Amino acid sequence: MDSVNYKEEGIVFDIQRFSIHDGPGIRTIVFLKGCPLSCLWCCNPESQKTSPVVMFQASRCISCGKCANVCKQSAISSTLPGLVDRDLCIGCGECASVCQTGALTLKGERMTVEQLILELKKDTSNFRRSGGGITLSGGEPLGQWKFATELLKACKSQGWHTAMETTGLGSDDAIENVFPHVDLVLLDIKAMDPEIHKKATGVSNELIQKNARRITEITNAVIRVPTIPEINATEAEFIKISDFAKSLNHVETIHLLPYHTYGENKYELLGVDYPMGEIKPLDEEHAAALQAVVQSQGLNCVIGG
Ligand code: SF4
Ligand code: SF4
Repeated sequence: MDSVNYKEEGIVFDIQRFSIHDGPGIRTIVFLKGCPLSCLWCCNPESQKTSPVVMFQASRCISCGKCANVCKQSAISSTLPGLVDRDLCIGCGECASVCQTGALTLKGERMTVEQLILELKKDTSNFRRSGGGITLSGGEPLGQWKFATELLKACKSQGWHTAMETTGLGSDDAIENVFPHVDLVLLDIKAMDPEIHKKATGVSNELIQKNARRITEITNAVIRVPTIPEINATEAEFIKISDFAKSLNHVETIHLLPYHTYGENKYELLGVDYPMGEIKPLDEEHAAALQAVVQSQGLNCVIGG
């Protein structure tokens, strides 16, 4: 059994229980902060920065002014309480801690592996009964690979199934250290066309494809495709993704994840514009047609994952 450094620290922005979509059985999802991509459709925009961020819900604000009084950065104006100047804010969380209405909340908390394992132990009976376990997500967990490695080792030492949702974008050290401790990888492939990928995510897909080959040599994987109208929801793109999936080891299934707008209100809470504009959610007919394309290439395809 690998020894675990329980003192290793990372930044976690959420823990969600009772998930049935991110690996087998009932799962607890641990979301790590920070992501090198900036996908236009990201439904967790609060995860993108590595440091903690505050979110502001204007409808809860009673204009008491306590937040402005405690902010040492003067990032909150006394005439417009609650509204955060993102250029000045350092994510210290003082404002959220004095906000009694919950209008301001801090996303991102430093935790040790030990603290997280104590939290996750509350779900042990769920894992045992359902064959579930923990799923690391983000953000991109590879950005905090040392923490992810120790956390995954600690989970394995508890006998829990481990899964990880990843973009595949990380260093060689991250890939070689993390994936031996992951039972199932949920590997996002957003587009094979380099231009589409760069435009939609802000980064090249070259290293992602190289890493996908290495990851699938190490462990089992499902390919997940966030399927976005006007971006990658085309027959041509799905044929290319299917060909790539077939060239990998240990991959038999593609999850087609239809675009939805559930994350839209988070952009408002962060004080930024929603980058998807008027693009509509993927309709059922369109999803079924793309599912048939994948199946015609000899792979399983599950809508929704
Ligand atoms: S502390 Fe909370 S309720 Fe009071 S002004 Fe600030 S955001 Fe509004
Ligand atoms: S998180 Fe800290 S720096 Fe940012 S607005 Fe709140 S008190 Fe000010």
